Amino acid sequence: MKIYSFDPKTEYTLNKKEIQKAILNVLESGKYILSDEVRKLENTIKKLLNVKNAVSVKNGTDALIISLKILGIKKGDEIITTSHTALATTAAIINVGAKPVIIDIDKEFYTLDSKKIENKINKKTKAILPVHIYGQCCDMKDIMRIANKYNLYVIEDCSQALGSKIKNKYVGTFGDIGTISFYPTKNFGALGDGGMIITNNSKIFKKIERYREYGWDRKRNTNNVGINSRLDEIQAAILNLKLKYFKMYLKEKNRIAKKYISEIKNLSIILPKIRKNSFHSFHIFAILTKSRKHFLRYLKKHNIFLSIHYNKLTFENKGYTKNCEFSKLELKNSLNVSKSTLSLPIYNGLSEIKLNKIIKVINNYKQDDR
Ligand SMILES: *Cc1c(COP(=O)(O)O)cnc(C)c1O
Repeated sequence: MKIYSFDPKTEYTLNKKEIQKAILNVLESGKYILSDEVRKLENTIKKLLNVKNAVSVKNGTDALIISLKILGIKKGDEIITTSHTALATTAAIINVGAKPVIIDIDKEFYTLDSKKIENKINKKTKAILPVHIYGQCCDMKDIMRIANKYNLYVIEDCSQALGSKIKNKYVGTFGDIGTISFYPTKNFGALGDGGMIITNNSKIFKKIERYREYGWDRKRNTNNVGINSRLDEIQAAILNLKLKYFKMYLKEKNRIAKKYISEIKNLSIILPKIRKNSFHSFHIFAILTKSRKHFLRYLKKHNIFLSIHYNKLTFENKGYTKNCEFSKLELKNSLNVSKSTLSLPIYNGLSEIKLNKIIKVINNYKQDDR
């Protein structure tokens, strides 16, 4: 019995027949791009997240690039963000010609430390791009306070956090724009690529909708140039079908997370904390361990193969460094997390046998057995 951090096939296996039927229906419909299923998905996501507008796109990276583009972010502009994120966040900023200005994460929750933002604001600063990493909510109250004070845009990267909320407000609806990824391993995954942009601002919405398809409006008139970032009907149909299970999926992930938190008892492991008054959607259950290499080797011996999110800060990736602004001296928490983080399996369909084995193996681990 081998155990991995993710198993994207399990959600498909759980509802195999239904998913195959949904795909067949699209094949038979003769409509494959931006049609009924896509519109239905956009409408359901709007209702689910209580947001005025939603535009589907090809993937989560496009969602970020398009958002930055239509806000007018361009060469020479600076975007304040974190380096403890998927490389995609940084790639998107650099792709529109702007410069990611990297600040540290907070020690407790690993999200953008809002106390460090004001220091980095100057005339070139155009936006703040917080990432709700692992499904943990950023401190949106403080981030919005700062953004309003300096008149900055806020784009929330919710690629890992669909369903996360602060009190009863979903992430992605605090700032000007929220972006979502439907990559198969995410909280709400397709069986291919997909993404979505949400906004309560109708002007922004109209621009995004046009930009997604060559700049066209619904009558195919244009004012500006756009690109092609359309979601296809097959992925939308799969997502529409899975939507009825979405809340159950989130519950199940939270059940697994709570089991880890209450049953893992090992002083060499630091378990995640959940921000007060928030719902954590647990895309990733990340633990910290001082001797990660040793721990990984130990787990491997027990057939547990874990992934790391992320063992490099974004700007440490070759080709990215020169495009980012950062000072390693100011990134103590980010560096510490990237050196010690490790992702435990948390997905729908994770069997109780596997879950109990993981907990037992971790509880038997002794850091000093070297
Ligand atoms: C997955 C992810 C993205 C990019 O999404 P894709 O659909 O893979 O393009 C962006 N930001 C974060 C934080 C992510 O986890």
